[in-house]
Amino acid sequence: MKAVTRRSLHQSEPGRCNPVRWATLSDVESPLVAVLGGGQLGRMLGLAAIPLGVRCRFLDPVDGAPAAAVGPLVVGPLGDPGALDAVAAGADVVTYEWEGVPAEGAARLAAGCPVRPGPDALAVAQDRLAEKTAFRRLGIGVPEFAAVDDRAGLEAAIDAVGAPAILKTRRGGYDGKGQFVLQSAADADAAFAALGGEPLILEAMVPFDRELSVIAARGLDGEVRCFPLVDNAHRDGILRVSRAPAPGLHDALQAQGEAIAHRLLDDLDYVGVLTVELFDAAGTLLANEIAPRVHNSGHWTIEGAETSQFEQHLRAVLGWPLGSPAARGHAAMCNAIGALPPRDAVLAVAGARLHDYGKAPRPGRKVGHVTVVADSPDALDERLARLLTIAPGTLG
Ligand code: AMP
Repeated sequence: MKAVTRRSLHQSEPGRCNPVRWATLSDVESPLVAVLGGGQLGRMLGLAAIPLGVRCRFLDPVDGAPAAAVGPLVVGPLGDPGALDAVAAGADVVTYEWEGVPAEGAARLAAGCPVRPGPDALAVAQDRLAEKTAFRRLGIGVPEFAAVDDRAGLEAAIDAVGAPAILKTRRGGYDGKGQFVLQSAADADAAFAALGGEPLILEAMVPFDRELSVIAARGLDGEVRCFPLVDNAHRDGILRVSRAPAPGLHDALQAQGEAIAHRLLDDLDYVGVLTVELFDAAGTLLANEIAPRVHNSGHWTIEGAETSQFEQHLRAVLGWPLGSPAARGHAAMCNAIGALPPRDAVLAVAGARLHDYGKAPRPGRKVGHVTVVADSPDALDERLARLLTIAPGTLG
């Protein structure tokens, strides 16, 4: 277990360079947001906080995590009571940028300080069975699913759900990890050998046309605002390119996505930004999963919307009025996976903005993203096509 380090917000240790100093902001004037997790999402929350005069303090197990560039970082495990107390000390509100935060830890903090969104949302998002059960209870379209607790349960689930289907771990899977595709019942042994031994869920394979997401915010007063639906293209289970507004987006589809988000937000009495990942199957939206936080498919909002998802989340959790989620033209976001593309080549594309997360290159790791904006879908296509030639396999 790593030692918990605390850095004072106002004092530099002698002989040591304190990377962040809030000398001009008094504690009274400047709200303090404690963020559980200090990855790139935390870093972008911290960047959005600066012009608002909001301070962020982060907790992350990794010393030098990306958010350390924009606020003090407490280094420690996200479930460690001492580390949680250290990051939350004196905070106006606690929030998170990673849904893997142990829900019990968040619940314990909630006794002393507002935790937004509430720990209930974390608990639902951490368990695919709880998540899909909530979708069904709320009348939200969802792929057929069944719980699988043992080998016999898998047979029963295949009978109920049919094939092809996807067996998933109920907890802990992300970016396509912890999943096994069954083309037919004959694959049951292999699927169970790969994933058996922990609680599972079997889902019908949806023949969707495309993957969309709706990023929505709910304020302390219950007001809900949704960004335009986003079109998301994945490769090897990792998001590569998002486009917003989703090509061909029309009012009825947007309304469908907003209704899904609204029902979830109200049911969870949610405060903050929530993302719902959706399958578009011939114009009908089915919910796949939720992320109780700002989301990779919302990075385009920094340049492409009136209010970024990061600012919107801060506004919501601080009880401030929500901003307009309207798009400013058309935007596309490409993840940089494994390594950053050459900066000069990216910056030579009109309308392109580079975001470097300050992470060491490593295969499969999200180390940055590029957003490109344009006034029309055609101009966006042309700029995006140029971007995608810069570093194939890495960018987009
Ligand atoms: P997930 O971790 O649940 O987001 O799944 C990762 C990816 O697998 C999704 O982005 C989809 O491309 C695909 N996938 C997941 N569940 C299903 C499903 N029920 N039907 C079809 N494709 C799915």
